[in-house]
Amino acid sequence: MTEITQVKRLFFALWPDPETRAQCAALSAALKPAGRPVHPDNLHVTLVFLGSVDEATEAKLIDAAAAIRFAKVSINFDKLDYWRRPRIICLSGKAEDSAAALLVEQLNTIAAALEIPTDDRPYQAHVTLIRKANRLPTLTFTPINWQADAFCLVESCSTPEGVAYRVLKTWQAYEDQPPIDSEAD
Ligand code: ATP
Ligand code: MG
Repeated sequence: MTEITQVKRLFFALWPDPETRAQCAALSAALKPAGRPVHPDNLHVTLVFLGSVDEATEAKLIDAAAAIRFAKVSINFDKLDYWRRPRIICLSGKAEDSAAALLVEQLNTIAAALEIPTDDRPYQAHVTLIRKANRLPTLTFTPINWQADAFCLVESCSTPEGVAYRVLKTWQAYEDQPPIDSEAD
């Protein structure tokens, strides 16, 4: 008998709050002449792309991700880039501190422990705004300060209307967790 295991296409990401999403969507709309804007619901920052993951491995990933302690992430997206090979226009920027890099490092470590190969190039935080782009128009814009107090495990679903992302799980940064009492009196 053949056992059927469900495989999902997964990645870890930062999900925007409504205001950040609106700011990115406005910028993406302004860039429309250069290509195909990413649907506002799909705007995100990839932390680690995992690819095809079976159910058992997904469960282990979720357990491992729940054990991660991480600080809030703040990235100032102040630059537009054109990436020639994937033909995208994306926002790029600098993290305010090491929180994003530390989170990405921890996520890569849990993926490696589960033998999931991940991108070994240096991490570059970006938000894809335009696909099928052929040029980078000149555009002056107000930098977008992306604040994240959580990260997510996301499923990438292909639909007849194009790719759609589904947030499967969200984990909060430790600043938002109630303090642990050192000693009960
Ligand atoms: P499609 O591939 O259907 O055009 P997509 O690229 O938006 O759509 P996915 O390929 O599922 O969707 O990718 C999900 C996220 O992970 C995107 O942000 C994508 O840029 C990123 N990603 C995909 N493949 C890789 C990879 N090999 N290394 C790093 N990031 C990746
Ligand atoms: Mg892709």
